Amino acid sequence: MQAVQVTGTRALRRVTLQKPVPGPGEALIEVAASGICGTDHHIVAGTYTAHFPRVLGHELSGVIAAWGPETPVSLPVGTAVAVDPNIVCHGCSYCRRGAPHLCPHRQAIGVDRDGGFAEWTLTPVAQLYRLPEGLPVWWGALAEPVSCCLRGIDNLRFRSGETALVVGMGPIGVVIAQLLGSAGAAWVIGLETDDARRGMAAELGIEVYGRAEDAALACRDRSQEGPGVVVDAVGSATVLEYALQAVARGGKILVFGVAAADQRARVSPHILYQKELTIVSAYTNPFTMARAVEVVASGNLTVEGILSRPLDLDGVAAVLAGSTRTVGLKSFLRFDR
Ligand SMILES: [Zn+2]
Ligand SMILES: [Zn+2]
Repeated sequence: MQAVQVTGTRALRRVTLQKPVPGPGEALIEVAASGICGTDHHIVAGTYTAHFPRVLGHELSGVIAAWGPETPVSLPVGTAVAVDPNIVCHGCSYCRRGAPHLCPHRQAIGVDRDGGFAEWTLTPVAQLYRLPEGLPVWWGALAEPVSCCLRGIDNLRFRSGETALVVGMGPIGVVIAQLLGSAGAAWVIGLETDDARRGMAAELGIEVYGRAEDAALACRDRSQEGPGVVVDAVGSATVLEYALQAVARGGKILVFGVAAADQRARVSPHILYQKELTIVSAYTNPFTMARAVEVVASGNLTVEGILSRPLDLDGVAAVLAGSTRTVGLKSFLRFDR
């Protein structure tokens, strides 16, 4: 089968690999689509740990092509599925107390084992989520990033009527803005300094500004106190510092984007006290995959506006190698078959 394989830091190649054979408890998946995530760029750059050689791709959908031996078959061959990449041990103290995402033995498909930038891949049975009948199978590639966004919104305890400023209008910022909108936000405003991304977010119906001052003015136009929620969908110490200033008294900050490990923000404990702020974060997607599939199918997300420019394997290799810029709002692999 054809695949893109990362062989070391900043080293990747197009390869022909043996088509994998499912073992006990596993399904063979004919990959339909697989998104490129910031994590993939970090792995290629050597700033996120993975073992090489590795086929990346942890945001994938496809069709069950075969089951391994001695596998409790719950879905027939031919079923379209989205894949939860996070395989946990079910035995550690975190798993047993309902926090499997913190499992120290977690193995991710597309990080710790081969993933979706290939024609075929293997997944354990428990990782599969059936896609509704009639949904384009490739839409399922958005389920995993959406499941992570849902975790963030769950942690915010967002309620209808609240207001939000989302900093960063990459695919994650756009998804979070749209999810907050469908969760009943009174208003959602975006902030994005990159012209191309700002243009794409605006095309998808988000009110978005390029300068922090303009976003702050637009928020204050709506309500004097400012946004009740500020989301960092960039992953930066600067954005956290900005959020602490911009958020309303009694407000909440969601630290969602993944900042580089060496970044440090200057936090005023006095502001935390005086505004009585809540700061939450979110790590992966515990128990949110099934809801994410429903959201992708619901029509509340502009799925085809986010996944607008499909790539083939050569295109994926070029984006991962950095020789091509991210294509569209979110770069992703799609097989036409
Ligand atoms: Zn990801
Ligand atoms: Zn565990």
